[in-house]
Amino acid sequence: MTPPNPVSNQPLAGKTALVTGSTSGIGLGIATALAQAGANLVLNGFGDIDAAIRQIEATGAKAVHHPADMTRPEEIEAMIAFANEKLGAVDILVNNAGIQHVATIDEFPVDRWDAIIAINLSSAFHTMRVALPQMRARICGRVINIASVHGLVGSAGKSAYVAAKHGILGLTKVAALETARTGVTVNAICPGFVLTPLVQKQIDDLAARDSLSPDAARAKLLGDKQPSAQFVTAQQIGDMAVFLCSDAASEMRGSALQIDGGWSAQ
Ligand code: NAD
Repeated sequence: MTPPNPVSNQPLAGKTALVTGSTSGIGLGIATALAQAGANLVLNGFGDIDAAIRQIEATGAKAVHHPADMTRPEEIEAMIAFANEKLGAVDILVNNAGIQHVATIDEFPVDRWDAIIAINLSSAFHTMRVALPQMRARICGRVINIASVHGLVGSAGKSAYVAAKHGILGLTKVAALETARTGVTVNAICPGFVLTPLVQKQIDDLAARDSLSPDAARAKLLGDKQPSAQFVTAQQIGDMAVFLCSDAASEMRGSALQIDGGWSAQ
């Protein structure tokens, strides 16, 4: 009988992963799944940084944090240089940082439009512009862009978010074509609703607007859009990211993977 292989549960051992916006929600879920698979992590984002680092270190992986603001290209460049210095060149880049604002186009604050386009879309251009040449030089790499079901369909009140998420799917396709003859792959994940602070704010706003209890507002938000009536979990998205880093996914290029409880099947 073959003895168990101690590294089989750590297919990403020795790899360096950078996840933008990984102090919370989906980004922290992805970072944790990558760490459980053996990768060392460069975390980014605001809020409770120490808790995020502790969560990654509990898996046995190394974790460092860089505070780059995803609206600032020069800080993004500094973050990639920091990753190189602290943990070695980035093998896995997850463009996840994102924000939301809900208002009709005529009432949409211009500064919120600019911030959403910068954080949810342009930041992925800036990270890839710096990281892709390094990945190509090292023969292989993985880029995973966290889009949304809103990369595929629209919702009223979410003009900037939907525009940014449709944009990131286009950017994913172009980057995948530009790396198609290399060991670097670029793909996107398109989640439906995940219960994170970004969605909790929409539930709170809905409860206030329609005088609903928190449970009723949560059920209404899901029921209007997500046929499963269940939230997708950050863990499920993390597991999908680990799959995209595997050899089995090495010929997936420019894909947009839906994980949305049936939302986009309607
Ligand atoms: P979240 O609010 O829980 O986390 C957002 C993360 O981004 C945090 O770590 C925050 O600190 C960071 N961040 C925000 N602004 C930043 C900036 N300027 N610079 C650097 N970091 C910044 O949100 P989430 O729900 O986990 O969303 C993560 C990603 O998943 C986003 O791109 C979002 O669009 C996408 N997404 C979320 C859902 C959902 O239902 N929650 C669904 C589909 C896609």
